[in-house]
Amino acid sequence: MNLNTKQFFKKAEDGGYAIPQLNVSSADQMKAVAKVALELKSPFIFGTSEGEGKFLGLRQAIALAEVYEKETGIASILNADHTKSLEKVREYLDAGYNSIHIDGSLLPYEENLEITKKAVDMARKVNENISVEGELGQIGGPGSSKILTEAVEIKEENLTSPKQALEFVEATGIDRLGVSIGNMHGISNITKPKLDFERLSELHEILKEKCVLVLHGGSGIPDDDIKKAVELGIRKININTELRLAFAGALKKALEAGETTPYKFIAPAQDATQKTTQEKIEICGSKNKI
Ligand SMILES: [Zn+2]
Repeated sequence: MNLNTKQFFKKAEDGGYAIPQLNVSSADQMKAVAKVALELKSPFIFGTSEGEGKFLGLRQAIALAEVYEKETGIASILNADHTKSLEKVREYLDAGYNSIHIDGSLLPYEENLEITKKAVDMARKVNENISVEGELGQIGGPGSSKILTEAVEIKEENLTSPKQALEFVEATGIDRLGVSIGNMHGISNITKPKLDFERLSELHEILKEKCVLVLHGGSGIPDDDIKKAVELGIRKININTELRLAFAGALKKALEAGETTPYKFIAPAQDATQKTTQEKIEICGSKNKI
């Protein structure tokens, strides 16, 4: 796989669009995502969380990403989503991932800075053009991509401070920064995410020459708000919960109808995945960017 993943984000910054990260945990989902990206000529990122990567197998994920790259002619970016330790970063790099997200956002600031800098150094040793993402500020929600029946409190003190972000980016040398601007992981039936656009503009103004901005928790944010966030400088949007809901919903329906042939009950789940992927590509503005 292409190891110069920095260039994709540079292009997105120059072109004013975002690249969607679609989280996957099976070959069925990867196939569906790659098919839509090809149809819409959109750059895209396969994301695997620690749990998703473990289930799929890191080398299996690489092998599949390579197959889709060959088949579609679209470069595969495979991102290690929310990696929490340097041991895990090592595992992902050794397996061949070409994009890393080190998440020290729950650690005290100094420790976050230290682990992030070390992760950047590790990636640079493999290839200096591998794109590395850090995270600063605490994103709301439980840290997993699911439907929440409780309210989520988003505290002002957990939002990313532009001043601290500049220091963090300069000290660590990251290429991307996951920001907390009112976004949350998962979808709550009670709390609707309200993005702080003023803060986002300020972050973009300060950081646009140094790194690109990432919006986690892209599921559950109204389309118009996502579009506005892209206009104001978000260059990567992570989508997980909505893909899970689409896949699981269609699968459940097919199984309840009594279907027992795997390729017949998985096909509608892939169709639903494709539909969601298509919608996200449209609102990211990444269509026809290849
Ligand atoms: Zn996330």
